Amino acid sequence: MPMGFRPGDRVPATGIYTASHDQHRQPHDVVVTQGENFPDCRTCHDRVSFSLAQAAKHIGPGDGFHNTAETEAIAKKQAKKSSGGGD
Ligand SMILES: [Zn+2]
Repeated sequence: MPMGFRPGDRVPATGIYTASHDQHRQPHDVVVTQGENFPDCRTCHDRVSFSLAQAAKHIGPGDGFHNTAETEAIAKKQAKKSSGGGD
């Protein structure tokens, strides 16, 4: 039977994982960050497993984007520009 990751396992890659529980809940997607550990479930404890649904990277310079701090500054600048005039 195909088992995914278990609570306590180290997260190998940031992305969206499908959490499959022990009957009390339908599978659902969660975002988990690389280097964290998969948590256990408050209801079914370690009878939950996680499988990678969609790997994703943090947006940033590595992907050809500005980093988020720069983006925030740009957004603030644009907000200032547009907030004064109305339309
Ligand atoms: Zn559960």
